[in-house]
Amino acid sequence: MLTNCPKCKKVISVEKSGNTFCPKCGTYIFVGDPIKDEENKVLFNTEEELKKEFKSKQFEDVEDNDKEKNKKKRAELKHKINLLHKNLNDS
Ligand SMILES: [Zn+2]
Repeated sequence: MLTNCPKCKKVISVEKSGNTFCPKCGTYIFVGDPIKDEENKVLFNTEEELKKEFKSKQFEDVEDNDKEKNKKKRAELKHKINLLHKNLNDS
């Protein structure tokens, strides 16, 4: 679907609502579900904020016995941090 990035205001195409990186400016954003009347918002402006999230509550909901899932989530977020880092360096 097409939506507007809450940061750079450009029109972007996303597969579905949820957390994603803006393909235009690289900001980590939340794309709201139009059916639920959710609004788009900026999640993290800086790498620092993303790193903080990485260390904190992001994984609290993961059960202890689900270590594999936990590991996967961490790897995913680490990848996103690397992406963000690259975007920050490029601009
Ligand atoms: Zn953007």
